[in-house]
Amino acid sequence: MSSKRALIVGGSMGGLFAANLLHRAGWEVTVLEKAASPLTSRGTGIVTNDGLRKLLEMAGARYAHELGYALDERIAFDREGKLLASCKLPQILTAWSRLLRILLDALPPERYRLQSNVVTIDPGSANELARVTLASGESLEAELLVAADGVRSIIRKQVFDAPPIEYAGYVAWRALVDRGTLSPETQALLGNAFAFSQAPGEQILGYPILGADDAERVLINVVWYRKTSATQLNDMLTDIQGQLHADGIAPHLIRSEFIQQARSDASILLHPAWAEVLASSPELILQVIVDSTTTSMHKGRAALIGDAAFVARPHVGQGVTKAAGDALALTQAFDGTEDDVLAALARFSALRVPVGQFAVDQARRLGAVIQPYQAGFTSWVEHYAQPDNLIRDTAVELEGVAHLVRAH
Ligand SMILES: Cc1cc2nc3c(=O)[nH]c(=O)nc-3n(C[C@H](O)[C@H](O)[C@H](O)COP(=O)(O)OP(=O)(O)OC[C@H]3O[C@@H](n4cnc5c(N)ncnc54)[C@H](O)[C@@H]3O)c2cc1C
Repeated sequence: MSSKRALIVGGSMGGLFAANLLHRAGWEVTVLEKAASPLTSRGTGIVTNDGLRKLLEMAGARYAHELGYALDERIAFDREGKLLASCKLPQILTAWSRLLRILLDALPPERYRLQSNVVTIDPGSANELARVTLASGESLEAELLVAADGVRSIIRKQVFDAPPIEYAGYVAWRALVDRGTLSPETQALLGNAFAFSQAPGEQILGYPILGADDAERVLINVVWYRKTSATQLNDMLTDIQGQLHADGIAPHLIRSEFIQQARSDASILLHPAWAEVLASSPELILQVIVDSTTTSMHKGRAALIGDAAFVARPHVGQGVTKAAGDALALTQAFDGTEDDVLAALARFSALRVPVGQFAVDQARRLGAVIQPYQAGFTSWVEHYAQPDNLIRDTAVELEGVAHLVRAH
């Protein structure tokens, strides 16, 4: 191939891993991100693992300070604070924005274009280049097109014959609070552990992370899963003007009655430490939990990666590692056969579809305990109702997701 141009649609985790890895492999990459500013403000914690840290290194990402908060222990306790289970499990917990900043810094800035909303796509063929059109009317073409445009991917919709996204039957409320502002009792319980509690239809977990730009600042990140019917969900996604935000509602548009209800339910159903975090978080983020799968990750010159291909529920904590592993598999698929883009993409897809499906399946098993009415999951409901099993299997690295060959 005389020219090696890659257009990458989506400049978040998957897009930035792909851009950095392909750039280092000699591709002329252009990231097209529809947002107007770099996405460093998404307030959430990310559980890292050995595979993800190795992938960051391969992508050329460097960090002067620690990647995140180092924890050793996991605990589960009940509403009264009685310890139900504990285990040693060293992990580094980071902030979404911290990780994104590190990846952005690794890429030459001229390779990253903001306000570039892709509206139409032609995936090309063996003889035709792939082409995208932006909302501005500008048209761009390349030998390779990487669709890293997330769970609502328009490339998935326009080009791939993938099944619709499925609602899992529950939502997550997410809260983030400065550790130092919490009461001494809550800091003692949640301040230095990966902590879990659950009750029928409810599961809550939390862990400390480092602030995005200030490594001295420690925050407590909490995710509270709640069984929620589709009708209830539609109501929660409808703002005060009556407008439905089916693709997700921004925190400031959530009706105050739902925030108040969540905080009041927390004070009744959960240990007071959880209720305190939920009450003192400056905002609550509502996350709709979904499953998304596909049978193919390639079409013409287009490759589908990250959440655009598969979304595994957050219980496995593999979203970023999977997006990065897809990016590595894609880059490596071109080793030695750079002339045949279509054959390389077919190899990439054959390797990564089973991995994506595996992550989705494991996440469904873990989530079944919250929404236990899905056929075929009864034994998993019992399994993960046991706190020992829950704390051992949640957000741990899954074999193969990072696409690294390990020495055994
Ligand atoms: C509660 C919760 C907790 C989680 N915890 C973890 C965890 O601990 N560990 C972990 O690894 N993962 C976790 N995840 C999952 C992780 O956040 C995602 O899997 C990951 O962000 C996927 O990255 P992506 O780049 O594929 O998609 P996204 O991050 O969704 O990025 C898609 C990008 O594409 C852009 N875009 C979309 N359409 C267009 C367009 N038409 N033109 C141009 N740009 C476009 C968007 O603006 C966005 O920047 C969690 C998720 C949730 C909900």
